[in-house]
Amino acid sequence: MKTLRLILGDQLNHNHSWFKEVDANVTYTMMELGQELTYTTHHIQKVVAYFLSMRCFLDDKRKEGHHFDYFELDQENNSQDLCLNLKQLIDEGGFQKFEYQLPDEYRLDQQLTGLCKALNIGSEAFDSEHFLASREEVSEHFKGKKTLVMESFYRMMRKKHEILMDGKNPVGGKWNYDSENRKKLPKNTFVPSPYLFENESKEIVSLLEKQKIKTIGQIGDHLLWPINRAQSTELFEAFLKTFFPNFGEFQDALSENDWSLFHSRISFALNTKLLSPKEIIDKTEAFYFQHEDEIPLSSVEGFIRQILGWREFMRGVYWKQMPEYANLNYFDHQRKLPDWFWTGETKMKCMSHTIKQSLNYAYAHHIQRLMITGNFALMAGINPDEVDHWYLGIYIDAIEWVEITNTRGMSQYADGGIVATKPYVASANYIHKMGHYCGNCSYNKLEKTGKNACPFNSLYWNFIDSNRSKLQNNPRMGMMYKVWDKNSTSTKNQILEQADTYLKQIEEL
Ligand code: FAD
Ligand code: SF4
Repeated sequence: MKTLRLILGDQLNHNHSWFKEVDANVTYTMMELGQELTYTTHHIQKVVAYFLSMRCFLDDKRKEGHHFDYFELDQENNSQDLCLNLKQLIDEGGFQKFEYQLPDEYRLDQQLTGLCKALNIGSEAFDSEHFLASREEVSEHFKGKKTLVMESFYRMMRKKHEILMDGKNPVGGKWNYDSENRKKLPKNTFVPSPYLFENESKEIVSLLEKQKIKTIGQIGDHLLWPINRAQSTELFEAFLKTFFPNFGEFQDALSENDWSLFHSRISFALNTKLLSPKEIIDKTEAFYFQHEDEIPLSSVEGFIRQILGWREFMRGVYWKQMPEYANLNYFDHQRKLPDWFWTGETKMKCMSHTIKQSLNYAYAHHIQRLMITGNFALMAGINPDEVDHWYLGIYIDAIEWVEITNTRGMSQYADGGIVATKPYVASANYIHKMGHYCGNCSYNKLEKTGKNACPFNSLYWNFIDSNRSKLQNNPRMGMMYKVWDKNSTSTKNQILEQADTYLKQIEEL
C-alpha cells in the first residue's frame, strides 16, 4: 500500500523499527516549518541545531535507501503549515495510507489527530520507540493517589527495568544519594573544557535571515552542539570519560567560570531522539561497573535518576495534566518579565551571568535554571506564561513537554504542587553556599535592607509572607514561617518595604 510517513524534527530516532527495511511503497516526509519557528521566539542556536540535525538525518536515511520528500524552509511549495503540507503531499502523491509517530507535544498531537479525522485515506499512529515509560504510565502508577511523587515512580522504574539493582534491592543499599550531590566547587578545582563541535552554521543562519525569522541569542560561524548520531555518541562518551566522576558531587554547584561544569549536555541529543535514554542508562551503568574504584555511586545514581526518574516522570505528568496544565497559575502571579531577561543587563551578578550564558550558549544547567532565574521569577511574582515563553525559547533542549513541567511546575510552583513538594525559593545564602557569584556582585549578600541589599533576600521573605495562606500548612515550609515570625513587626515591615521598592524598580535591578 502506498504510504506516507511523517518524521517530526524531534523524532530523529535512527533505530526506529520503521527503518529496519527499505520499502519502495513508503515515502517519508520531514519539514522545516514556519509554524514551528513562530509559536515562541527560539534561540538561534536551537533553530540551527534542529535544521542541521534534520538535514543530517535525511542524508543518512537516503544513503540507506529510504525515500524522502523533504521540505526546506524557503521551498516554493512549503505552506509553512504541517497539515497543509501533508494534505498537499497526500493529494498529489496518490497515497493510500498516512502514518506518524506519536508526537511529544500536545499541540502537534491535536493537529495530527484533527488531520487524520479529515483525511479520506486510512491513518495510524506509532510509538516513537524512545521513552522507557508509555505516555500513560505515570497516570497508571499513581491511580487513586492525590499526589504524584517522583521518587516512588523512579523506584518502580528501577525495579521494572532492573537498573542499578542487586536482586530486589538497590545497588549500594540506598535508592537515592541526592544528599551527597550538593557540594560547592572548591576554588581552583580543575574543570575540563566543554566538549564542543564545529558544525557549519552560516547556510542556515542566512536562510533564517532571508525568511525574516525572529530569533534570540548569539551564534558564530559554527554550532557547538551535536547534529547527528555519531557526534551525539561522541559527546556522551566524552562525558563518561572526562566529566562523569565529578558529576554527582558538583551537580548543584554554581560557577562563574565554567558554563556547563561536569554536566553532560546531552539533553538536545536526547530530546531529538538522536540518543535513546535506554542506551544512555545501560552505557552509564556498564561504565560504572567497569570503573567502580574511580566513580562514586552517587554520580551514577544521580545521573540515572535524572533520565530514568525525572525525565520520564515529567513526560507522564505532561500527558496526565495537559491541556489544563498550560494555564495553571497557583499564586495568580501577573508581573511582566523584566526586559533585562533578554539581555542579561542587570547588576545582580548571578542573574546577569546565567542570562548572558544562556544567550551565548542556549544552555544553563539545572541549578542555574531552577535556583537563579527560576527562583528570581517566582519570588518576583512573574506571570508563568511569560516565564514559560522565555524558557521555551532560550534553551537548546526546550520542548514543551519537558520545559513546561519543569518551568511552570518544578520552578514556578504554578501547578500548586503537582511536580514539586514545595516551591524552590531561596535567598542569597543558598546562592552563596553553592557558588562564587556573590563575591563579585554590586549587591551585598548579607544585607536584607538598604540600597545595596541583595534583592534575593527581601524578595524571599516577601514571598514567604505574602503566600502564607497557601504555604503555611506545607510540612516542608512550616520552619520558614517559624523563622519569619520570630522577627519583630518593625523588622518585618522594613524587609517587606525593601521588597516592594525593588519590585517597583524591577527594570533597574
Ligand atoms: P545533566 O545535568 O547532564 O543531566 C542528564 C540528563 O538528565 C539531561 O540531559 C536531561 O535529559 C535529564 N534531566 C535532568 N534533569 C531533568 C529534569 N528536571 N527534567 C527532565 N529531564 C532532566 N530539560 C530539558 O530537557 N528541556 C527543557 O526545556 C528544560 N527546561 C527546564 C526549565 C527549568 C526551569 C528547569 C529547572 C529545568 C529544565 N530542564 C529542562 C531540566 C534540566 O535543567 C535540563 O535537562 C538539563 O539542564 C540539561 O542539561 P544536561 O544535558 O547537561 O543535563
Ligand atoms: Fe545574586 Fe544576591 Fe549574590 Fe548578587 S549578592 S550574586 S544578587 S545572590
